[in-house]
Amino acid sequence: MRNPLRISSESRRGLVKTLILGLCAAIATFAAPAVAAPPRVAELSVEVLDVGQGDSILIRSPEGKVALVDAGPSKAVVNLLKQKGVKAIDLVVLTHHHSDHYGGMSEVIREFKPRVFLATNSSHTTSSYLKLLQLVRDEGMRSITPTTTVRKIGLGSVVLNVLPQPPDNTQEENDNSIGIRVEYGNFSALMTGDSEERSRAYWERNCPSLVRDCTILKLAHHGSRNGTDTKWLDVVRPEQAVVSLGTGNDYGHPHPETLSLLDRKHVPLLRTDLVGTISIVSDGKTWDLTTSKRSRGTTDVAVRSASTGRSNARETTSARSSSGRKVDVNNASAQELMTIPSIGPSSAKKIIAGRPYDSVDDLQRIKGLGAARIAELESNVIVR
Ligand SMILES: [Zn+2]
Repeated sequence: MRNPLRISSESRRGLVKTLILGLCAAIATFAAPAVAAPPRVAELSVEVLDVGQGDSILIRSPEGKVALVDAGPSKAVVNLLKQKGVKAIDLVVLTHHHSDHYGGMSEVIREFKPRVFLATNSSHTTSSYLKLLQLVRDEGMRSITPTTTVRKIGLGSVVLNVLPQPPDNTQEENDNSIGIRVEYGNFSALMTGDSEERSRAYWERNCPSLVRDCTILKLAHHGSRNGTDTKWLDVVRPEQAVVSLGTGNDYGHPHPETLSLLDRKHVPLLRTDLVGTISIVSDGKTWDLTTSKRSRGTTDVAVRSASTGRSNARETTSARSSSGRKVDVNNASAQELMTIPSIGPSSAKKIIAGRPYDSVDDLQRIKGLGAARIAELESNVIVR
């Protein structure tokens, strides 16, 4: 994908010239010799695309291998992928047979000619799904399914662990969703389509190590209350939750109970309906997060970065927001406050009830916001 070390002969000549000039300057001023910038490290990128009410997650390995998990509700995803510079896709995954996940899949297949199609053989079907399967055959794609044991798919140096598939649920297609744990070094991301309680229980019982301690959790079923529960969060222990859903959707997603639960567990949440596409990059040790839209009341895209603290004590994980993303605690709406990492609905409510504040330190009088969390908030908020 990127090869920052590749230098053309022309730029090499320029570089030599620059180095000589730089060396002369250093000698003339007796300054310390210039230190070459470290080469850019290889990164995995996971992007939760803003496709409205549906799911589509783009995964790109440091070697430029590309996987797409679900293709959103419509062919609009094709343009999003083109804007991202995607030219070809190696693997497409359809988590389950619902159109908010495969609506754009046929167009994606026609446009990007993926080689492999991963989906279940669930009995749930529709005429449009059968048409998609016909296209997969017509294109000569290799069709694979999850198995009853973990299936590891290498995407360059990134590993997609396809979770053991729970037995077919003929009553609820959501519970036939494919689960994937993306792993790159210490970084991991868990995405389980629209899975509900039955699949979660199956995975907790049958492959606990594959769902435990994930850096990023994509909330199942667009933040519905049947997609996440306390036990699941206690096992997955995500540092950051993300969710894909449409603005003003008819389903009431995300459910207030899910938001409260994340708030109680101090898991920060980013929503595509509020911040657009969520892009996460990781070098396997640290990760960064950016979003495509500014939330109302902020002056820049949200950026959060942190170390993956799995190998050390979890408490050592640090999170900071970059400059520019300041939310005014005296005037922001609850929704705007909730764009701050670690602020959920209940903390937002308390912040609003405790107004006005003279300084950020004043937030300490809010129950549940300790000095450590206030210090973490420092870079995210202003007091006007
Ligand atoms: Zn869905």
